[in-house]
Amino acid sequence: MGMLSIINARVVTMRAHGSAHTHTGARHGAAMNELGVIESGHVCMRDGVITAVASGRPNSLAGEVIDAGGRVCMPALIDCHTHLCFAGDRWNEWEQLRAGRSYESILAAGGGIMSTVGATRQASVATLAQDLADRLRMLAYLGVGSVEVKSGYGLDWPSEIKMLTAIAQAAQQTPQHVLATCLGGHAIPADNAAWPEQFAAHIAELARQFPGVAVDAFCERSALSVEQCRQIFVQAKKFNVPRRLHTDQFNSIGGVEMAIECGATTVDHLEAANENSIAALAKSKTIAVLLPCSVYALGGSYARGRSMIDQGAAVAVASNANPGSAPTIDLRFAMHLAVRHCGFSPSEALTAATWNAACALGIETQVGSLNVGKRADAIVLEERDERALAHGFSGPPPRHIVLAGKLINDRH
Ligand SMILES: [Zn+2]
Repeated sequence: MGMLSIINARVVTMRAHGSAHTHTGARHGAAMNELGVIESGHVCMRDGVITAVASGRPNSLAGEVIDAGGRVCMPALIDCHTHLCFAGDRWNEWEQLRAGRSYESILAAGGGIMSTVGATRQASVATLAQDLADRLRMLAYLGVGSVEVKSGYGLDWPSEIKMLTAIAQAAQQTPQHVLATCLGGHAIPADNAAWPEQFAAHIAELARQFPGVAVDAFCERSALSVEQCRQIFVQAKKFNVPRRLHTDQFNSIGGVEMAIECGATTVDHLEAANENSIAALAKSKTIAVLLPCSVYALGGSYARGRSMIDQGAAVAVASNANPGSAPTIDLRFAMHLAVRHCGFSPSEALTAATWNAACALGIETQVGSLNVGKRADAIVLEERDERALAHGFSGPPPRHIVLAGKLINDRH
């Protein structure tokens, strides 16, 4: 694999207090503004691992050298919430929605999420894996080095396993660090009202077959109840499976409190979270993952990120990429929306899409900051000020992208 050095860069290390600390946990509140900037420095990598991060020029240079010309060098982005494994498309539905038809009537006619479930159940593992790998490559070219991908369009056990198998296969074909989450609690299929309980009963098997994979559910009036989600989490806790929850997207029904009580790693969405839930979150270790792209696509109120950070919560931001409510692969756009509509500072948005996103996935010892010994995932922006990343929208993509020590896109 060899050696690669990025020199003459504004190095945004994402290390807390500019220190060499690697394992300091998610950044809460005011600490989300800490970027650990080295004004003029370099990053050296060998065999896929970071070997030096320091100011000035390296003493000696060998292998490939990128002169950043004062541009920003920072950790590759981390998208900690996507639904990129799916079959079929939702363009007819989108056209009908734009023409004024309600989502409820589309859903009642077997459309919406159930059309994706139907197409995904029909698809082969090979097709799902190939399509996912193609999408992941597009994310890589936007500078996303680690990606979480959820199942959840199977909603029966063989189809959920098929999706997790496809995600594992796609991970072998792409340059990124890919992590799977089993979103068995995404919805209750019309053909099986007992599915949430059946999913809970399969978690022991999940832990055996896919060690390290997290579970996830959608706690909402139109999806799973708090009690159904709790049953899934109790099982998951028993088998040491990490727990995540889609909650408070449209209604606040107690999902945040239940998730905190069950030691969830993250609660995701939170557009409808009330002050009590935000206060509880701020006192907990559970990370809030905001998904502003779906608000942009659907309309409605954005999550109150400013209030969460001011009260001391740890917040991450993700694309929520999916074929229905967030048809985008652009984490940078999600960062922009977090600043524009959720009250983040540009620095907080950077932390939310790197270090805190790594913590949401439990991979902060491997990625999420530029530290010696970590995976050599780094990007060089076109810009010389990191605030540009959350300021601009619709690009530009990074100038250079290095994943696992390998330059994957050099347009210059
Ligand atoms: Zn989601």
